[in-house]
Amino acid sequence: MSLENKKIKCIICNSKFDINSDTKPFCSKRCSNIDLKNWLDEKYSIHLDENNYEKDI
Ligand SMILES: [Zn+2]
Repeated sequence: MSLENKKIKCIICNSKFDINSDTKPFCSKRCSNIDLKNWLDEKYSIHLDENNYEKDI
């Protein structure tokens, strides 16, 4: 089947990788961690902002 050779693009680094990869939708564990870290940083910074805001008042 030709589907076995299908490649998809990593949403973090845009490099192509095998669609059967365990790390999908990322090309590697590294990109998976980057995405997770970005997401957590965003959540955390929003949370911090809210706390600072309350303290200032
Ligand atoms: Zn990647």
